Amino acid sequence: QIQFADDMQEFTKFPTKTGRRSLSRSISQSSTDSYSSAASYTDSSDDEVSPREKQQTNSKGSSNFCVKNIKQAEFGRREIEIAEQDMSALISLRKRAQGEKPLAGAKIVGCTHITAQTAVLIETLCALGAQCRWSACNIYSTQNEVAAALAEAGVAVFAWKGESEDDFWWCIDRCVNMDGWQANMILDDGGDLTHWVYKKYPNVFKKIRGIVEESVTGVHRLYQLSKAGKLCVPAMNVNDSVTKQKFDNLYCCRESILDGLKRTTDVMFGGKQVVVCGYGEVGKGCCAALKALGAIVYITEIDPICALQACMDGFRVVKLNEVIRQVDVVITCTGNKNVVTREHLDRMKNSCIVCNMGHSNTEIDVTSLRTPELTWERVRSQVDHVIWPDGKRVVLLAEGRLLNLSCSTVPTFVLSITATTQALALIELYNAPEGRYKQDVYLLPKKMDEYVASLHLPSFDAHLTELTDDQAKYLGLNKNGPFKPNYYRY
Ligand code: NAD
Repeated sequence: QIQFADDMQEFTKFPTKTGRRSLSRSISQSSTDSYSSAASYTDSSDDEVSPREKQQTNSKGSSNFCVKNIKQAEFGRREIEIAEQDMSALISLRKRAQGEKPLAGAKIVGCTHITAQTAVLIETLCALGAQCRWSACNIYSTQNEVAAALAEAGVAVFAWKGESEDDFWWCIDRCVNMDGWQANMILDDGGDLTHWVYKKYPNVFKKIRGIVEESVTGVHRLYQLSKAGKLCVPAMNVNDSVTKQKFDNLYCCRESILDGLKRTTDVMFGGKQVVVCGYGEVGKGCCAALKALGAIVYITEIDPICALQACMDGFRVVKLNEVIRQVDVVITCTGNKNVVTREHLDRMKNSCIVCNMGHSNTEIDVTSLRTPELTWERVRSQVDHVIWPDGKRVVLLAEGRLLNLSCSTVPTFVLSITATTQALALIELYNAPEGRYKQDVYLLPKKMDEYVASLHLPSFDAHLTELTDDQAKYLGLNKNGPFKPNYYRY
């Protein structure tokens, strides 16, 4: 039995992060960030016919999908099987729920990256009883062979790598607008699917039991809807759950920063001077990895608490101007805009590497480098030399977009944590008795976070200590959790 919600009253509403991010574009940031999966077998020699023009059927005769090439299904299946090995929490969810099907009758329309890891999530939802129709939240990130494997397995998937903007909305529409099938749950990453349903098919919300949203952008949109009194179903904010924030932001960036830098530049870090802008979760992860390799790390911060943390961790806190002439690498992790300006770029030394691990493509003022006196030379995929008239070169990675999403892989295990949280949020919203959730945005309960973590512990053969009755009484805790108050910061 999947049990985590016996204290639903403790769900907290999370305050809106207003004003932090621009949502003015029609496609959310997550739809347009360049994203490449190093594991993709996508064949660039595939014919140029749009998948929309092709007639394809899977081996069971179904054509209820639109992917690049259904013949790649076998490759995709192998990719999914590799991902499953590091996503044992989802596999154990399938086993635990066996026979019970907590998502029986659920009709989930989803819009996420379509990769081997999300395929494990989608197939878990199907194994738990759901019917799924799926599109991609990013026009570049689909692993075509994985989409083919899902289509072959009977999932109605509408996605391929390199969709146009028109294709992007067409795919979403094909998922939502289907005769004889109406979604009752939404799983979104970026808010585009939710936005489309609001705009085109508001009646669909009469049947929707809940929305689960993963991204900063999508969550922000939901809070805006809620604030305007326009949110007509309950929504779960997965983005701000502890297990997502700590693992995706901190540990994922700790693992992927070096991968992205090394694949693109072959740089050696021992003794290199690196400045990291922002010492939040992402910055802390990056700094830990850089320090471990012997780099000399400087931090810039606006927040005295984070600045003090950086000091206590042994880093020098400086203003960017103070070190910009001497550093070998500049990394932004602030979630802010124009942190690295043209003035900074003008003052950098020759061969300085500049990259972004924070918010989309706003942190480095890349537009300011598009001026006639500077020459751009593409030296490798995702690596540009920007050359000043005196011959100085700055090495710009991924044109200022997210380094790890563009130039390295993201660890499957981290994605497993997020995917497990999404699955549990869907189960909870789908099974919640009437009235438990209002038309608002909810943060996941502590107990659900703890359950997600506990499902991942067997991978490490980690043995959790149990409270004695006496200890539980002393601490005023239930022996089965939650073990921390909601305000605990980890
Ligand atoms: P956070 O809020 O914990 O940290 C950001 C830090 O930057 C804060 O401490 C803030 O005080 C500081 N800051 C803001 N403006 C600054 C400035 N001008 N100069 C110096 N410091 C400044 O956020 P986080 O969890 O670390 O996430 C940061 C960004 O990274 C977000 O945009 C987030 O969406 C993104 N992110 C990226 C990845 C990835 O895989 N690359 C993963 C998760 C999150």
